[in-house]
Amino acid sequence: MRQSVDVLIKLFRQKDLKITPQRRVIFELLAEDDSHPTADKIYQRVLSVMPEVSRTTVYNTLRELVALGELTTVEDLNESGTRYDTNGNYHHHLFCIRCHALIDISRDFAGVELSPEETAGYQIVKSHVTFYGICPDCQDS
Ligand SMILES: [Zn+2]
Ligand SMILES: [Zn+2]
Repeated sequence: MRQSVDVLIKLFRQKDLKITPQRRVIFELLAEDDSHPTADKIYQRVLSVMPEVSRTTVYNTLRELVALGELTTVEDLNESGTRYDTNGNYHHHLFCIRCHALIDISRDFAGVELSPEETAGYQIVKSHVTFYGICPDCQDS
């Protein structure tokens, strides 16, 4: 995550969002998860620590983190549900087409720019490169 758990708690308080034990657990799990988990995976993980947590709480907390800009969604790989990205730095991805592992690549693809004709009048807001492949584990099986 871009922010530590303490900073996230402070941020939520500033926005008058309640800090519940469940939310604290969600923050802690996200802080150490760079696998780009889906909301359901995050929910399952919280559930294993806090059996009384509701799906709604987890989904709402994720939505709030996205709204605050603390979490981003990976838009082009949502065949198995929206995946959340805890890496706040600009980066690209390496994706395993078999097991759907998603790894961050920090690299500046300078020079990948569109000409005015190619943008076709679009206002470009961001660009992102994804490499598709088969990870070492999947190559072995
Ligand atoms: Zn794989
Ligand atoms: Zn990422």
